[in-house]
Amino acid sequence: WAKAEGKNQWALFDTERNASEVAQFRLSAAMPAALEREEFYVDYQPLVELGEYTVSGVEALVRWWHPELGRLGPDRFIGLAEETGMIVPLGRWVLSKACEQAKAWQDEFGRAAPFMSVNLAVRQSRDPNLVSDVTEILDRTGLDPGKLQLELTESAIMGTADEPLEALRTLSRMGVRIAIDDFGTGYSNLAYLRHLPVHELKIAGSFMEGLADSECIDPVDARIVSTLVDLAHTLGLTVTAEGVETHAQAKRMSEIGCETGQGWLFAKPGPPDAVRELLTAEQHR
Ligand code: C2E
Ligand code: MG
Ligand code: MG
Ligand code: MG
Repeated sequence: WAKAEGKNQWALFDTERNASEVAQFRLSAAMPAALEREEFYVDYQPLVELGEYTVSGVEALVRWWHPELGRLGPDRFIGLAEETGMIVPLGRWVLSKACEQAKAWQDEFGRAAPFMSVNLAVRQSRDPNLVSDVTEILDRTGLDPGKLQLELTESAIMGTADEPLEALRTLSRMGVRIAIDDFGTGYSNLAYLRHLPVHELKIAGSFMEGLADSECIDPVDARIVSTLVDLAHTLGLTVTAEGVETHAQAKRMSEIGCETGQGWLFAKPGPPDAVRELLTAEQHR
């Protein structure tokens, strides 16, 4: 009966695996219609200058309001969208929404308006229509190209073929800023960085844990972060610290010379009105 039990376990394991595969498959299959019906929406999270505590930029973060499953975070569907290729139209939709929003703030707040930072998946960065899509969206919305930043991960930007890099160079010449997202978590050829059209490094939130509180700083993490910031400055890049949750982390990053912070300490991702409130308050400061 040991055999029977073993068999049962397999059956259970198999059913569970199939159930989650079916769920993933259903999510993938539902995406095109969901995009059509605008079930997706974008939250915005401020990027804050560590010296002045003013909002210098905003990151666009996509969410899916699923009719049965409720609100889904990007970790639930971005990977699937990359696999199916849906990330290309979905990413274009996010870019368009985010640029429309940024243009509204550009009109309302002028030079004080924040730049808009939009995540670009690997597949989008290799899409031959990237430059024409971005150009079309900037033209249509009227957003100043200098008010747009594209965030790519290390793996998306390192070791890519010439053509995608050429596209990033073209965008950079148009005035669009390029940032490397989650820096320090992937494989990076640091020396190669100087040959890339990059303006900003976003240091991964995982490094903030080692700076959690002034009494228990992890000296190795602290040294790594400070070395990364120095390297970025040597290359003429600005630095944003991601995942800043405590005052101690913000203070430490500011002392190290990091220009910008992003995290729950300052603001969680939220609707455009929450950002607008912050910008309005700054106007009267
Ligand atoms: P990311 O680009 O590194 O975005 C930062 C993530 O950290 C966001 O998670 C944000 O909500 C979260 N975060 C912000 N402050 C804090 C903090 O203080 N503590 C902690 N623990 N987390 C914080 P979110 O919104 O769930 O997005 C996850 C990832 O999904 C993003 O990571 C990005 O890689 C991807 N993503 C989001 N929107 C898009 C998109 O439109 N296109 C693409 N290709 N990827 C996207
Ligand atoms: Mg990002
Ligand atoms: Mg990040
Ligand atoms: Mg991430």
